[in-house]
Amino acid sequence: VVVAASADDVPLVLRWARNRNLAVTARGSGSSMAGGAVGAGVILDLSRLRSIEPVDTASQSVCCEPGALRDEIDAAARAHGLRFPVDPSSGRFCTIGGMVATNAAGAHSLGFGAMHAWVTALECVLADGSVIVLRRGDEPPSDSPLVAAALRVLNAARANGEAFRRNVRKDSSGYGVGRWLESGDLLDVIVASEGTLAIVTAVELRLAPVAQATTSLLAAFSDLDSASDGARAAREAGAVVCELLDSTFLELTAQAFPPLPAGTSAVLLAAIEAESESEARKRALALQLDLGAAGATATTLALVHAAQRELWELRHSASPILAKLDERLRSVQVIEDGAVPPEALAAYVRDLRTALEQAETRGVIFGHAGDAHVHVNPLVDMSRSDWRDSLNGLIERITATVARLGGTVSGEHGDGRLRAPLLARTWPAAAVQTFRELKDAFDPDGLLNPGVILPIAGQSPIEAVKYDPALPPLPAAARVALDQVADRREYAASRLSLLEGGS
Ligand SMILES: Cc1cc2nc3c(=O)[nH]c(=O)nc-3n(C[C@H](O)[C@H](O)[C@H](O)COP(=O)(O)OP(=O)(O)OC[C@H]3O[C@@H](n4cnc5c(N)ncnc54)[C@H](O)[C@@H]3O)c2cc1C
Repeated sequence: VVVAASADDVPLVLRWARNRNLAVTARGSGSSMAGGAVGAGVILDLSRLRSIEPVDTASQSVCCEPGALRDEIDAAARAHGLRFPVDPSSGRFCTIGGMVATNAAGAHSLGFGAMHAWVTALECVLADGSVIVLRRGDEPPSDSPLVAAALRVLNAARANGEAFRRNVRKDSSGYGVGRWLESGDLLDVIVASEGTLAIVTAVELRLAPVAQATTSLLAAFSDLDSASDGARAAREAGAVVCELLDSTFLELTAQAFPPLPAGTSAVLLAAIEAESESEARKRALALQLDLGAAGATATTLALVHAAQRELWELRHSASPILAKLDERLRSVQVIEDGAVPPEALAAYVRDLRTALEQAETRGVIFGHAGDAHVHVNPLVDMSRSDWRDSLNGLIERITATVARLGGTVSGEHGDGRLRAPLLARTWPAAAVQTFRELKDAFDPDGLLNPGVILPIAGQSPIEAVKYDPALPPLPAAARVALDQVADRREYAASRLSLLEGGS
């Protein structure tokens, strides 16, 4: 493990590792879901590079180092009446470098999009140790052989443009060739590349003004098709958030909820932003009518701040309840990030329910309905001898469904090691071929995070699951430190400093 003390360390480490033929895995807080921040060779910890420059209010932008935490950047912006609107639930502890590398998103992505929409410049260290700056709208540097090779691959991909287009609202799978085809900006292929093409050492972000007024709504539905129509209504009404809580979620968290009509199968929570309170109220009332027309059996409007906060706390009630359900059950997030074309949302959630039922596995389904992007937490009984087969079966089944519906297996978390073996199942062969060529162009020796996004021969999705009872036990101090990180969500804490005597 190398802990970078300054951005200047990064090219040194890359050259040192290259001379020894060692792989390098960049790491921020290590909170990503798909095993992208762990690997053989050198782990390059960038979490101490966390300075944030003063916010530029004139251009509404901010520059920071890759280890800066998302919420700290947002707080710096808010001091000037601005905000950073990409809001993963992990914002308190995830780094901006990790967010760039996974094309992270959050509940407000319905209104504001994912990371790629907010990154205006990146400083990157390439596999040969050279440092480049990529700025939106500017030509990429012309003196880098690696950049020149990458551009040749990308230009050739124009002939297969259709292979990179998918009718999904969020996508963190594969490389962002589709986004590059639209923008011509090379930084669009570095975003979401999970440390496999370059290491990001500085980020410039666009900021947005804070909302002047907000309102929130809860709508209950007796069937998924109506809920899906409701999500479309919210999207069309310009809601900035529209979240789905499926019946699986409602069953487990009933104690936290106000009474819902009998037979409620799904709930939507939506938020509207406007220039004034009267405008926010007017638009919320109009959306309430639209949700009714879509088939809502009950709606609750929250106009004042306290009522809105109460509504949104429902959305966050699941995790603590799930954690206390049963000691043997582990919430194993391996099918947690699928996004489908918006019109296929109901079909997707229906299939998720059936798949969980057939695998005799409890699980909760919730997520970003407005973007047709759904999180699934299967609760796996690790004491069952067939847990691995059962989980592999679920992954197989859901990947097939996502492929059939024309979706992506990763809406915001990235492919990581977990989904690299699934890449060819949901992308056309021509796209996968371009991804391989792009990787070879940027990283000819294959030393940047190998096995992430593109699989190594023979790689399977759940080779190493940290909960596997068959794994040899970790040293006691490491076990205690890692459990503490997960239980208290202290991902931003240095694992080394948590070890006794560490510093
Ligand atoms: C409780 C919880 C809730 C979450 N909620 C959300 C959510 O709402 N939305 C969402 O999108 N994600 C969510 N996540 C996932 C995770 O927080 C995000 O993927 C986040 O962007 C990862 O940041 P990190 O600093 O932890 O990155 P890491 O996990 O350290 O790294 C992630 C990937 O980025 C690469 N990387 C890291 N830094 C760099 C760099 N400087 N240059 C190049 N590559 C780099 C790594 O190699 C790895 O492949 C959640 C996670 C948890 C545990």
